[in-house]
Amino acid sequence: MARVYNFSAGPSMLPEEVLKKAAAEMLDYEGSGQSVMEMSHRSKVYDSIIKGAEQLLRELMNIPDNYKVLFLQGGASTQFAAIPLNFMNKNGKADFVITGQWAKKAYQEAQKYGECKAVASSADKTFSYIPKLDKNEFTKDADYFYICMNNTIYGTVYHELPDTGDVPLIADISSCFLSEPIDVSKFAMVYGGAQKNVAPAGLTICIIREDMLGNARDITPTMLNYQIMADNDSLYNTPPCYTIYICKLVLEWLKEMGGLEAIKERNVKKAKILYDFLDNSKMFKGTVVAEDRSLMNVPFVTDSEELNAKFIKEATEAGFVNLKGHRSVGGMRASIYNAMPVEGVEKLVEFMAEFEKANS
Ligand SMILES: *Cc1c(COP(=O)(O)O)cnc(C)c1O
Repeated sequence: MARVYNFSAGPSMLPEEVLKKAAAEMLDYEGSGQSVMEMSHRSKVYDSIIKGAEQLLRELMNIPDNYKVLFLQGGASTQFAAIPLNFMNKNGKADFVITGQWAKKAYQEAQKYGECKAVASSADKTFSYIPKLDKNEFTKDADYFYICMNNTIYGTVYHELPDTGDVPLIADISSCFLSEPIDVSKFAMVYGGAQKNVAPAGLTICIIREDMLGNARDITPTMLNYQIMADNDSLYNTPPCYTIYICKLVLEWLKEMGGLEAIKERNVKKAKILYDFLDNSKMFKGTVVAEDRSLMNVPFVTDSEELNAKFIKEATEAGFVNLKGHRSVGGMRASIYNAMPVEGVEKLVEFMAEFEKANS
């Protein structure tokens, strides 16, 4: 069996230990005589899986007791509508920072439900930086202030959160979920699709401060109403059972590794290997300003389209897959989420150095 180094932005690689455990438990989960795929979501055995996953997530992220944890479906993209339906309900206004495609999509979707203001944007330089924010631009009576914390496509991340005062801060953390500790209490809500760093596709985790709930618009579809999902402990209807189970295994793996401080240390080490190489290469260069670089997604280019294509082709043949950049940036992107071992990044950098030598 030959496993590749998978640099996909999502769905992305999972820890090998998790895949092995899932394989071992496939036919008979803990003596139940069934796969987790087959069991009732109302069964006692499944209840311990979903409750266990929530407990582990609370512990790892240090989630305060006055926050609900919801295991939902529909991806991060569904929350682009659910967030305004649930929260843009007092003054009908919200502020957005446009740092890339995902922030822009959230902004455009929310415009269907109220008055949305883009308080800053980095579109002028292909989203290669996090824009400086001018508080005078903020809407004083906005119902919330929205950011995309880690910009998967462009490889930028907020190192400092916007100071929104009393206005609730909401962040899409899809591509930096569990990559390092965050202070949940600074947010009214954080959420993300699980397929980047937490689980396979099909699960969306929303962490919401309780006082935000209960004000959804009357037209809000039942399935998008966070209060209803919270009242039913994410079991209003059938949840993505198997994905939640894998999520629990990933959380156990993280805990075993020493939690988010430990994984952050490993992620910093991995990113440094790649950024140091890019900063010293004459052929490859990173596309993001140094101070806003993501630990998770690293876009880079050469100065020729032909060379980019040749690199991607040869890298794929050598077992480094999914390195093609998003079409809006071009070039390459290495997504180095939690599950990517240090060795994967070291080997990639070795391969890049050899390629540079052979082609210059
Ligand atoms: C992938 C991604 C999304 C879209 O997620 P879906 O689950 O496919 O809807 C949204 N935001 C960010 C930051 C992402 O990386």
